[in-house]
Amino acid sequence: MVINEEIEQMKLNGNVLCLDFLNTIYHRFKTPLESYLKNFGDLLCWGKRVGVLSEDQYGVLAKRAAENPTEAEAFFASEAMEIRALLDRIFYPIAQREEVSAQDMEAFNRQVSFYLAHAQVQPLTGGYGFGWSWPENSYFWITAPVIKTAYDFLMSDQLRRIGSCPKCGWLFLDVTKNGKRRWCSMEDCGSAAKAKDYYHRHREA
Ligand SMILES: [Zn+2]
Repeated sequence: MVINEEIEQMKLNGNVLCLDFLNTIYHRFKTPLESYLKNFGDLLCWGKRVGVLSEDQYGVLAKRAAENPTEAEAFFASEAMEIRALLDRIFYPIAQREEVSAQDMEAFNRQVSFYLAHAQVQPLTGGYGFGWSWPENSYFWITAPVIKTAYDFLMSDQLRRIGSCPKCGWLFLDVTKNGKRRWCSMEDCGSAAKAKDYYHRHREA
């Protein structure tokens, strides 16, 4: 198993899976865009890290990718990265309190129709739960939960608590009590801003 240290250690603090997926865009305001996900192998590592793939599923998908790398990279570029770009055109404007274009919402709804056609109710101990009908070796196991959480999040009351870090553009659901989360994290952009504030306060004093 190839371990990608960057992905193993990246912060998962978007508080919604679809936002953590968008935060694989390392820094929104830097060009060229830097991504934690550079190829299908990275996507697989990410899937395991966030828990959408079990160890076994990871093994099954890694085997399929090793047998047909071209197909795996095509899925990475044409499905996973397209979805990330589309979700970014939806959630980033919402975090800025701006409207999403009708065209992008239409594109998202096409994805919803495709993915949710594979949704299933599955028996669980003592009740029923949500499941998917994909075959065991389907790559959609990685992207489907991203689409599903985006779909649920868009219609939830929590959507108004979406925010973005002014410095790097990471997106998050603000779950703080006072609803005043500003930064991706205090250790990263927050501490740099704090140091700057400190400097200005003391210079003026
Ligand atoms: Zn930041």
